[in-house]
Amino acid sequence: MAALVKRKREEGLWLEQVPVPDYGINDVLIEVLRTGICGTDVHIYNWDAWAQKTIPVPMVVGHEFVGKIVAVGSNVHDFSEGDIVSGEGHVVCGRCRNCLAGRRHLCTDTKGIGVNRPGAFAEYLALPMTNVWVHEHHDGPHFTIKPDEQPSIRDVQSIFDPLGNAVHTALSFDLLGEDVLITGAGPIGCMAAAVARHAGARYVVVTDVNPYRLELARKMGATLAVDVREQSIGDAQKQLGMKEGFDVGLEMSGNPHAFRDMIANMAHGGKISMLGIPEKDMAIDWNAVVFNMLTIKGIYGREMYETWYKMTVMLQSGLDIRPVITHHYGYEQFEKGFDAMRSGQSGKVVLKWKE
Ligand code: NAD
Ligand code: ZN
Repeated sequence: MAALVKRKREEGLWLEQVPVPDYGINDVLIEVLRTGICGTDVHIYNWDAWAQKTIPVPMVVGHEFVGKIVAVGSNVHDFSEGDIVSGEGHVVCGRCRNCLAGRRHLCTDTKGIGVNRPGAFAEYLALPMTNVWVHEHHDGPHFTIKPDEQPSIRDVQSIFDPLGNAVHTALSFDLLGEDVLITGAGPIGCMAAAVARHAGARYVVVTDVNPYRLELARKMGATLAVDVREQSIGDAQKQLGMKEGFDVGLEMSGNPHAFRDMIANMAHGGKISMLGIPEKDMAIDWNAVVFNMLTIKGIYGREMYETWYKMTVMLQSGLDIRPVITHHYGYEQFEKGFDAMRSGQSGKVVLKWKE
């Protein structure tokens, strides 16, 4: 089968023929239809310091996908050939305290597909049945969005993984009627803007330093998209008539300036969920955290499977994330897809593997 492989310990990815993966008695074999390119894949492509210490080579990369089940292990009874599925890319141990308590996103020994085990940028992917999320059962509707409701349904299904990051972060605190600040209008920040609006926020202010992405944030429902090189978040508050600061902050840039700005613009008692991954240690105004009684919660991955459930039902109840998908390529043109991602002039980039 064709697959995008990290073959050499240097910049790049290589389109190669590799064996179709073996699947165990508890696994399903999935024919991949579409995949999304994630920032993580770009790190692996660029072979930066994180990738060098994390990725064993060779490795089939990629973890955002939708596909069709084509075979199931002998122990698999709940899924069948023909089911359209995505999958949770974090494979958890199942035995640690958190796993046993149903808090699988807090597993002590998580393995990532396309990071620690073979990934989804391939014609076929083997996945444990415990990681499968069904979009459409082969013999009838599950939690599905009807194809006629969303023509680009497969594209949307292929990016459930990053949508899940946005949903997990955004829904960590109550948003109904609240004023929300999102720092970073990358694909995840833009999707979070749409989710926050859908969840009933009053104002959703998104910041970035990239005009292309600020425009995308507007398309995704931001009340205001602020280029922090030109306008301060304080001015944006004044423009909206806000007096006491933001109730909820979603940090989605990993940038220290953005995070400090956020802390300075929160209401007393404000709550911050932090998805963005800072490159290194960063100093913040801890006095503001203490005296203003801010809550800061780190967010990793998606809750299994409450986040997945919320994604499906929000799409069924009118959440539209299609504008965030800005580029489509066949998998043979993956270089163009990675170029688009690396340019910063993109939202999500989707690669097509099969009709
Ligand atoms: P991205 O890199 O595409 O987006 C980050 C955005 O932040 C960019 O558009 C950038 O221009 C913007 N930015 C830079 N400086 C800024 C500033 N001073 N103020 C405001 N914005 C600024 O990333 P993404 O794919 O959208 O992901 C968002 C973040 O979440 C990244 O840091 C990523 O590493 C992280 N992430 C975390 C998890 C997790 O499980 N915790 C999962 C996925 C992604
Ligand atoms: Zn575990």
